[in-house]
Order: sequence, then structure tokens, then C-alpha cells
Amino acid sequence: MSSDQDAAHRAREAFTARFGGEPEGVWAAPGRVNVIGEHTDYNGGFVLPIALEHTTRAAVARRGDGRFAAASLQDDGGAVELDLADLAPGSPEGWAGYPAGVVTGLRDRLPGGISVLVDSEVPVGAGLSSSAALTCSVALALRDLVAPELDGPDLVEIARGAENDFVGAPTGILDQSASVLCTAGHALFLDTRDRSSEQVPLDLAGAGLALLVVDSGVTHEHAGGGYGDRRRECEEAARRLGVDLLREVEDVDRLAVLSDGTAEGELLLRRARHIVTEDARVLEVVSALRGDADPRTIGPVLTAGHESLRDDFEISVPLLDAIVESALDAGAHGARMVGGGFGGSAIALVDADAVDAVTAAVTTRFEREGAPAPRTFVTVPSAGARRLA
Ligand code: ADP
Ligand code: MG
Repeated sequence: MSSDQDAAHRAREAFTARFGGEPEGVWAAPGRVNVIGEHTDYNGGFVLPIALEHTTRAAVARRGDGRFAAASLQDDGGAVELDLADLAPGSPEGWAGYPAGVVTGLRDRLPGGISVLVDSEVPVGAGLSSSAALTCSVALALRDLVAPELDGPDLVEIARGAENDFVGAPTGILDQSASVLCTAGHALFLDTRDRSSEQVPLDLAGAGLALLVVDSGVTHEHAGGGYGDRRRECEEAARRLGVDLLREVEDVDRLAVLSDGTAEGELLLRRARHIVTEDARVLEVVSALRGDADPRTIGPVLTAGHESLRDDFEISVPLLDAIVESALDAGAHGARMVGGGFGGSAIALVDADAVDAVTAAVTTRFEREGAPAPRTFVTVPSAGARRLA
């Protein structure tokens, strides 16, 4: 991981090489993993993410010619430049739609246009939210440069709008909230219905623990519309239950009415059961962490979350299940897939001195499955979006 200073220097140099002149500043926003609370965000429920050490950096300067220009060190072929007036969903196409969507939200503040140079260590498409790291780094830059009245939740909305309305990715509020609002040493307990949040201390190292992240290498692009299907299924379950959001259902027994003898009813029951039990799992983990409980005790709750995503929500894939199984067999206290599903990454809560053994067990399992060795790293709850230079 680069230090913030090295990262800022690299982005600054790359900006100058690409656009000439100096950027007005460099901003960073992290990727995230969700400790627990998966797919609850678009159901008005609870989430508990931490920010990764991995960040995306945006070096930014205003221009005078009314144009939007963007380049990424991770995407050689994808530099774009067009008139601000021509920004619209689908224009520009591809990755630059993310920064363009953020700029569009504040276009009236930027009459002269803007240049953005992006650099990142967040694995792309691994379920670790490189997209939110990208939008949030640019949103924070624009806040500092032209919109000082915006607060954290405003930035979250702008970043989410870019992803939902401009790029057309139907994410909830989890990723952007984590990237903007997380603080080092804490997990972010967020109620996505009223947007209230609490920083919950999470000192894994102090407890002799580590959070191991394993990227399955299965990209969720292969998923087709799985995420959108789950959103629609949750909406339909809520409609049949007579509630606006599944969050409003606290008692699993209430879901029995969904069971109407049809295959669809049974499916909606399982989808809703994941959401209702997942909200309860978030509350259980938060109350364990708020008290002085040993963080190891949250392990089985994480594993139960995985089983629910696998069996009720049906968004796991064999390699994610393999990570969880092999990590648990090698002594992890808990493990689960994270993110939107159909690929991406899994986490395992392990004793610090067992990281190597668990990593070796997962790697051996991948070999046996004939899959390329997975990327693994240990993470700690890290800082949210910030200015670097
Ligand atoms: P995730 O957020 O889980 O990494 P997404 O599919 O939501 O996956 O977002 C990945 C997309 O975000 C990439 O396909 C690309 O368009 C864009 N992106 C993220 N980081 C960068 C980067 N550093 N440079 C260019 N594009 C990026
Ligand atoms: Mg994303």
C-alpha cells in the first residue's frame, strides 16, 4: 500500500504528464468491505462496513474551456474529453461515466470545466467497491473546490446519483456511505432508512485478530441482472407483506404469509427471510462490539450470514463457498462472501497468528478446484475519504 504522501505525489505527477499544469489538489476515497449487512441497504435496513486501506485518488483542476477531461492510470485506452454541455447518461461511455456523473451533479458550479486524473489500488470488480471509491474521491474534490456547503451525506447522495442515474448501476447507499463516512479503527453502523450512523470501535489487532480478504477472481460482471432481480424480488415481497420496506418486518414468523403454495411464493419467502435475519445479524454484531465482548464471538454470526446469502438469497458461487469452507476448516472464527454477489470477495475473521495457515488452506483449495490462485490481503478498519494534498 502506498503512503498517502507517495500516492498524492504519483497522482500529481501523472496529472501533469497528462494535462500539463498542476492539479489544484489530490483527494482519496477508500474501497470497503461490509462486516455484515448484505443487500439490506436497498431494503431500508442496517449495514456495518469498514473502509479498506486501499484508496482511489483523484487529482483535479478546474479548466477554462468548458470541457470535461478524465484519464485513469488503470485504463490506458479510456481517456476522454468532451464539452461539459455534452455530459449525459451514456456520454461518455465506459469508466469515465463515474466521474462524469459526479461532475454533472455540480455542473453549474464548474462553468470552465474540469480535468480529473485517477489512480487506484482498489481491486476493480472484486466486490470491494472501486466504483464508490472513484465517485467519492471526485465528489470530495468538488466539495472542496466549488461546493463547501456539502456535508458527508450530501456527498454520498451525489456519488450514488452518479452510479444509479448516470452509469445505470442500481446500487443502494452502502458503498458510498462507507467510502465517505468510515473512520479508522471503527466500523460504520448505518441505518439506511433514516441515514443515522454510529462509529463502532473495532480494534481487531488489539484482540489478536485479523480480517482476511480473499478475492475469488470471479468478476460479478458475469452475473447479468442478478442484483436487479434481487431488488425486484425484495420489492415484491414487501408489497405482498403490505410494508414499504422489508426493514419494517422484524419477526421472521410474519413472512409465513408469503408461502402461498406457489414456487414464486416460496422464493419470495426465502429472499425476504435473508433480509429480515440479516438485519438482526447486524444488530447482534453491533451490540457485541459495543459491549466488551471478544470480537471472536461475531464469527459464527458472519458465517450464518454467508449461509443465508447462499441458501436463501442464492447469490453465492462455488468459489466463494469454497473460500468460506476452507477458511473455517483451517480455524477461522467466521467467514462470509461480501458485496453484491455472483462473484467478488469473501472475508474471514482469523487469529492474527493463523493468517498464513488460513491463506494456505484457501489457496490449496483453489488449486484443487483448478482455479487461479486468489488474491488475498489482511485489512484493518481504515479512514474514509480525505484530501491528500
Ligand atoms: P466494484 O465497485 O465492486 O469494484 P463495479 O462494477 O461496481 O465493481 O465498478 C467497477 C467499475 O468502476 C470499472 O469497470 C470501471 O468502470 C470503474 N472503475 C473503478 N475504479 C477505476 C479506476 N481506477 N480507473 C478506471 N475505472 C475505474
Ligand atoms: Mg461498485
